[in-house]
Amino acid sequence: LSSREVKNEPTIVDCCGVLFGGEHIPVIAGPCSVESEEQTIKTAEFVKAAGASMLRGGAFKPRTSPYAFQGLAEEGLKILAKAREVTGLPVVTEVTNPKYVDMVYKYADMFQVGARNIQNFALLTELGKTDKPVLLKRGMSTTIEEFLTASEYILCEGNKNVILCERGLRTFETATRNTLDISAVPVIKAKSHLPIMIDPSHAAGHWQYVGPLSKAAVAIGADGLIIEVHPNPEKAWSDGAQSLTPTQFIELMGSLRSIALAV
Ligand code: PEP
Ligand code: MN
Repeated sequence: LSSREVKNEPTIVDCCGVLFGGEHIPVIAGPCSVESEEQTIKTAEFVKAAGASMLRGGAFKPRTSPYAFQGLAEEGLKILAKAREVTGLPVVTEVTNPKYVDMVYKYADMFQVGARNIQNFALLTELGKTDKPVLLKRGMSTTIEEFLTASEYILCEGNKNVILCERGLRTFETATRNTLDISAVPVIKAKSHLPIMIDPSHAAGHWQYVGPLSKAAVAIGADGLIIEVHPNPEKAWSDGAQSLTPTQFIELMGSLRSIALAV
């Protein structure tokens, strides 16, 4: 169902009027984690002013260590819904467990499946039964074939609104957190009709490289970007090193527009 052999025209996924896979290249921005109402709404307001189309923020955080901050759960989802009310930005947030699909559905406009859950087939099947778009991230050691096959778990249940997202692979290189597989964009476009976006933040692991990777993504034809932004990255509860400040985000949006008018 994900293949060009089945459907040759590109799929356009519509999330509350934000279109992925069309002419425009939407930018989703926001903090790694929802930390408080103030932090989330402040971030939502400035990313909107800078031209972002949607807000991101994690309420369920899939952390490497069980002792690290795990997210505010439903309280975080309520904050995201409030930020949407204030700014009008649709909200995407990660769901890590099939038992939380109904809860996340109540508050979010789009589900995110994180890299670590690409093979959580029970989760993918549950999301396939819903009618909200799913941003499906590639795992850190997932081949493109496995990535597309994972999307089938959602598509075959009836939900056709899948957006793929490349976020970097684990390789021998340690200078960046992950190695961005930029070739995934043209390869996936050749094989599939689904939109493919780029997460430069989790690939880079460092704010300094987020801009150049974003520019490469837009230039190569990615259908969207998801970027971590924090009002005060040094104080962020997760992923501060790769988060842009408001000023850095505004500057980046300006330079992306000079590469592609569609951003
Ligand atoms: C995230 O988006 O905050 C996240 C945890 O990303 P990934 O699943 O790509 O590591
Ligand atoms: Mn993060």
